Amino acid sequence: MRALVVESPGKIALREVALPELKDDEILCRVTYSGICGTDLAIYTGETNFVRDGQIKYPVRIGHEWSGRVERVGAAVTKFKPGDRVVSDNGVCCRECKMCKSGNIQLCENMKSVGTINCWDGSFADYIVMPECHLYHLPDTISDKNAATIEPLTIAYAALTKYSITPETAIAVIGTGAIGLATIALAKFMGAGRIISVGRRDTKLDIAQKIGATDAVNNTKTDAGRAVMELTGSHGADLVVETSGAAPAVQQAIEMAAEGGHLAMVGFYEEPLQNLDFGSFVFKRLTAKGIMGELGLVPKIIDYMAKTNLSLEGMVTRIISLDEAPGYFAGHREMRKSDIKVLVKIN
Ligand SMILES: [Zn+2]
Ligand SMILES: [Zn+2]
Repeated sequence: MRALVVESPGKIALREVALPELKDDEILCRVTYSGICGTDLAIYTGETNFVRDGQIKYPVRIGHEWSGRVERVGAAVTKFKPGDRVVSDNGVCCRECKMCKSGNIQLCENMKSVGTINCWDGSFADYIVMPECHLYHLPDTISDKNAATIEPLTIAYAALTKYSITPETAIAVIGTGAIGLATIALAKFMGAGRIISVGRRDTKLDIAQKIGATDAVNNTKTDAGRAVMELTGSHGADLVVETSGAAPAVQQAIEMAAEGGHLAMVGFYEEPLQNLDFGSFVFKRLTAKGIMGELGLVPKIIDYMAKTNLSLEGMVTRIISLDEAPGYFAGHREMRKSDIKVLVKIN
């Protein structure tokens, strides 16, 4: 089968690899779509802390935002059969350590991340193997394309469900990448009255407004902190979700927050924060919380999508084939100016 392999920073290739063997509790899935994420691009360029501190080791078989169909099941699998449409968690437990044996798989001592840190072979491949405990059925109402956007939605869900959101809540979302847009779409469905998208490109801000933002602020053209204050009648945003990972956005997040407001920090910062004026964080009595993906959120998003018409297909700006993927990675810096979510159609 074919698999996309990042062999070292800047070196990516589509390789012919052996079809994986299945353990009794594992399932072989044929991948339909797999989304390209900022993390995949960072592993390709090597420009990420996870590479510098040795948590990501090359070669890496990347890809972790996928949807597919069951091809074959191990002898002990009971809940899945060939042909079932599926998605998965993006962490895989060992099923052997003390924590796994006691049922606390989220505390597994040997957790592997799909296609990233401590890598479980990823989804830019014809097939991916998944233990039964990490696989979920997809209802017919969720398309294969929409299903490949469930993973960024789990991050948005982890951020937004920490707060109480009402029609009076004003939320500012910094960043117009997939997680930023997923946050906007979900905030709308959770009933936030004001959702302000803050970004650098008008084309992406337009998509943000189509997906659910009530207002858009281009922070290359205007002072974003002041703009959010004006849009909210000098109140500020009750919740600021910072998804961009750009160091200056931290200052902006503090400036646009309401007194007593919350900052949900989702972006990863490649550089140490410098020249941060923290005085107004204290003065406004803000609370900041770091947000990461969590195991167990995929079924919640499936449920949410099935009950509402929440769809992120609108943020898919390009679909390429697996053969085209190495070329896309090589040229991504130019493409990313307009792309939000790129899906690789595999089978
Ligand atoms: Zn991702
Ligand atoms: Zn374990």
